[in-house]
Amino acid sequence: MKSVTDMFGSLVFNDCSMKERLPKETYKALHKTIENGKSLDPNIANVVANAMKDWAIEKGATHYTHWFEPMTGITAEKHDSFISPEKNGGIIMEFSGKELVRGEPDASSFPSGGLRATFEARGYTAWDPTSYAFVKDGVLCIPTVFCSYGGEALDKKTPLLRSMESISRQAKRILKLFGNDTVKTVKTTVGPEQEYFLISKEVYEQREDLLYTGRTLFGAKPPKGQELDDHYFGVIKDAVKDYMTDLNEELWKLGILAKTEHNEVAPAQHELAPIFTTTNLAVDHNYLTMELMQKVAKKHNMVCLLHEKPFEGINGSGKHNNWSISTDAGVNLLDPGETPYENAQFLVFLSAVIKAVDEYQDLLRISVASAGNDHRLGANEAPPAIVSIFLGDELDAVVKAVIAGKTYESGKAEKMEIGVHVLPKFPKDNTDRNRTSPFAFTGNKFEFRMLGSAASVSDPNIVLNTAVAESLKQFADELEGAEDFGKALNSLVKRTLKEHKKIIFNGNGYDDAWIAEAEKRGLCNLKTTPDALARYLDPKNVSLFTKHGVYTEAEMQSRYEIALEKYCKTINIEALTMIQMTKRDLLPAVSAYAAELVETALSKKALSDKIDVTYEEDCAAKISKLTAKMYAKVTALEKAVEGADKISDGLKSAIYFKDKVLTTMSELRETADKLETFVSDEYWPFPSYGKMLFSVQ
Ligand code: ADP
Ligand code: MG
Repeated sequence: MKSVTDMFGSLVFNDCSMKERLPKETYKALHKTIENGKSLDPNIANVVANAMKDWAIEKGATHYTHWFEPMTGITAEKHDSFISPEKNGGIIMEFSGKELVRGEPDASSFPSGGLRATFEARGYTAWDPTSYAFVKDGVLCIPTVFCSYGGEALDKKTPLLRSMESISRQAKRILKLFGNDTVKTVKTTVGPEQEYFLISKEVYEQREDLLYTGRTLFGAKPPKGQELDDHYFGVIKDAVKDYMTDLNEELWKLGILAKTEHNEVAPAQHELAPIFTTTNLAVDHNYLTMELMQKVAKKHNMVCLLHEKPFEGINGSGKHNNWSISTDAGVNLLDPGETPYENAQFLVFLSAVIKAVDEYQDLLRISVASAGNDHRLGANEAPPAIVSIFLGDELDAVVKAVIAGKTYESGKAEKMEIGVHVLPKFPKDNTDRNRTSPFAFTGNKFEFRMLGSAASVSDPNIVLNTAVAESLKQFADELEGAEDFGKALNSLVKRTLKEHKKIIFNGNGYDDAWIAEAEKRGLCNLKTTPDALARYLDPKNVSLFTKHGVYTEAEMQSRYEIALEKYCKTINIEALTMIQMTKRDLLPAVSAYAAELVETALSKKALSDKIDVTYEEDCAAKISKLTAKMYAKVTALEKAVEGADKISDGLKSAIYFKDKVLTTMSELRETADKLETFVSDEYWPFPSYGKMLFSVQ
């Protein structure tokens, strides 16, 4: 077996392979492009493409693809082979610089939210050289951005790269004020912790709801769920261990830093965390991780469920977005640091994040809004739909002291002056005690915990990067013009923390009292996706993104339409699946079972009227009553779905799906789940929750 070090990155055309295979000058020029984001010279592109092709062929590739991240929320690829005909009837394997740098997939079927109506239908893909090419299943994948003919972004990567550029620009201005002008770029870093469920393929295939929607639309609670907390960090079962071993190897080959794995709270639930990396790479890697999780599961006769809420009454799956800012030299700007000077700089960046999260709570909430995630946020397991920041005791006390202009004594009883250049020195608080906070400071990074497991990591980071860039911009504008930097800095930090302290909450986010308190503080509580999306195009949000060149207004409008449409379509598919399962499987099954009970009762009675048939009669009566109710509910659901056709406005339609369709769906489910507890296992058409959750041993 290959060692991990040999395996790691073996399918990636990374810096090492480039150095080895490119002429020195080409390598240098490419490196410059990667570091400074300069565009690639066509002559260089040809040399790079050729070397890349030779390398890929050695790794077994026959095709190449521009690999991109359209608005569907999953990645897309179209394979072209390297073959090129020769005069003699043979072929050669070819790949030009032009093909590397730019592609023209027929993009007419990707969601564009109206952008396509105004621009040409074709989409263009362009290589993002900051993300290395790799070989996957015999295909050389070139990570690209995806735009319309007019340059409008049709993907999730273009705005992410723009937001990274923006925060880099603004952070450098701040660093310069602290005397640091050697920093070339400032990058945000992300480490997404990914939760998922594993069930056996056999039970999966018997559930149309899982097949079509990724979640169970029916299912009575099993006798044992997660009550005992015996799964969390428990011994990993052999089948799961084998799966994790395989998955790790596949991820390592692609240069993905898979690091930690453990069982999660719910039965059959697990988590995988990578070591953090630059945000755009972390996003690419998370897409690949999700893809491989599903692919490797199939090889093991299992299915990996990435839906945010596959099982009702059981914890859903999230994705914690660990986020920080660091310089190209690797200095983490959210690390409190050792000296007062470093601490002062840290407090500026900390204040920038606090201000950003407070001012753009709505955008952060929107960035994680989806039909699937609505089943989690606010339920008693995930962070609430209200955005707030947890700082930890130590840092919270520092912030309070800064606001009050007082001295602060740390745990070490060290006197800390809140002076001009002497901002406090405080011990690093690495503890992460508050799991209920949606946005927690965890020592040297923030952990945004509202993401659903199926989400693209791109969206929340676009918001975070841009919102923090805006804070930093305002800070730099003010400080650059200041006569006395120290004084100005002190008053800026103090004022900012005072203005935005309402977003800081160190208590229990699951507590009802917090909801009331948050309302008093004027924080947003956007409970559902339609509630959240209604805020997306607010002038302050449009102004933020357009000012930083992250989105044009037209791009925002298109994203708004796409998100609403996706929400409606998701619920529509769920409703149609429920209708089909009810009419074709559930109703016939329960009716047949009731008939059998009646028949049994009759034949017992015929034998002797002394035989007690209370069970058969009672049960048949109960079942028949519930069956009639279920029939009424499924008819109501059909009507509700039809009603949606009459609404053309996106937001109104989404609200209709939430209020009418979802409500009728849960009424139908309630009836079906009750029936499941009466009906013989033999007759019930789908595997139960118990069978699914304990299907992998
Ligand atoms: P836990 O949250 O389980 O206590 P850690 O805090 O060590 O574990 O890390 C959780 C995740 O945070 C990992 O994916 C890790 O790579 C990531 N992480 C650590 N430091 C940073 C950072 N500076 N920027 C972004 N992510 C980070
Ligand atoms: Mg964590």
